[in-house]
Amino acid sequence: MISSELLAKVASGLLETHAQFDNISQINTARVLEAFRKHRVSDACFAGTTGYGYNDHGRDVLEKCMADIMGAEAALMRVQFVSGTHTIACALCGILRPNDVLLSVTGTPYDTLHGVIGSPLRTPTDGAALSDFGVLYREVALLGDGTPDYANIQTAVQGVKAVLIQRSRGYSDRPALGIETVAALVRVIRAANSACCILVDNCYCEFVSSVEPCMVGADLVMGSLIKNPGGGLAPTGGYVAGRADLVQLTAQRLTAPGIGAECGSSLGQNRLLYQGLFMAPHTVAQALKTVSFAAALLTELGYTTDPAPNAVRADIIQMLHFNDAEAVISFCRGIQAGSPVDAFAVPEPGDMPGYDSPVIMAAGTFIQGGSIELSCDAPMRPPFTAYLQGGLTYEAGRYGVINAVNAMLGQQQ
Ligand SMILES: *Cc1c(COP(=O)(O)O)cnc(C)c1O
Repeated sequence: MISSELLAKVASGLLETHAQFDNISQINTARVLEAFRKHRVSDACFAGTTGYGYNDHGRDVLEKCMADIMGAEAALMRVQFVSGTHTIACALCGILRPNDVLLSVTGTPYDTLHGVIGSPLRTPTDGAALSDFGVLYREVALLGDGTPDYANIQTAVQGVKAVLIQRSRGYSDRPALGIETVAALVRVIRAANSACCILVDNCYCEFVSSVEPCMVGADLVMGSLIKNPGGGLAPTGGYVAGRADLVQLTAQRLTAPGIGAECGSSLGQNRLLYQGLFMAPHTVAQALKTVSFAAALLTELGYTTDPAPNAVRADIIQMLHFNDAEAVISFCRGIQAGSPVDAFAVPEPGDMPGYDSPVIMAAGTFIQGGSIELSCDAPMRPPFTAYLQGGLTYEAGRYGVINAVNAMLGQQQ
């Protein structure tokens, strides 16, 4: 069992870091409130539409708010986006044309995008990938220390139509990109190719800093509403925000050319999207407190973590290296048992498409797959790393993490 002395030591070591999360949440909350005031959010915005969804006042006002919050000209924030992958796919398919080149400057993108891009990331394709339409793909790997390879990017970006920057580590072993790094990338890319579209996969990074990518010159950000910007309340959906022409092209792909953003009924979900966006800066701070607490506690117990407990963070993902199969299994089971939903379930490692080893997954969430809620995944291979994220409240997140560590320590006895 974890002693109360150890918990007190961990708490005092996190004071400044947690105060910093609160400070960022304060700044971001002010930006949300200012946007809501400017665009006159009122009760009338929460009414939904059905059918075509023409003149959905709440949806249109929400998108104006989201644009301002993201420092963008325009935004699309819809329940019709089924996931983050679908959102990014709509943007890529909307913007790229045959013979255009898409260049990823942060190495190989998130797994689920391989099917969207197609060859050479996934062959054979499903027949509907960007490569099946003659869109070409190239990438520049990150350097060994996880920083962008600016020298190679400068050359590779010549003549390309769009650049993809993935900020979050996702489920790879590399650091998330802070907003200063996004800014540096934008400067280098613009200097070498002023015409290209700079697209940012912002999943897991919204509201972690007080500055968002469009504020430092990115053309479009894209993300999921069952992660950070949904605040744990959005039932489903995605968003893009950025240059009005690129948002429009994404809308033409989400619905149909000629229809764009005009259609798409909000199905009575507007209030949850507003309330989720209102909560999001705070919820992200709760998630950051939870994962930094896990990092601090496990560091005290002799494990290594990435990021370190008090590191400046750019996403909400925490890597915990257990170096032991039994330890990672019991930790994940403890997270599950410490969750508000499905706490009785006992996760088992299982095969997952796209992984060459079994994966154990713990998630007891209100929203299916909602990873702004406390959740943990671990591929069963050395160094037996668990990827921990989320936590709607620090109280519940801390409880889940303590439960997980106690489960692990109990199993070791
Ligand atoms: C979550 C995520 C996505 C999209 O994933 P979905 O599961 O489709 O929502 C894309 N990129 C990154 C980096 C992500 O973390």
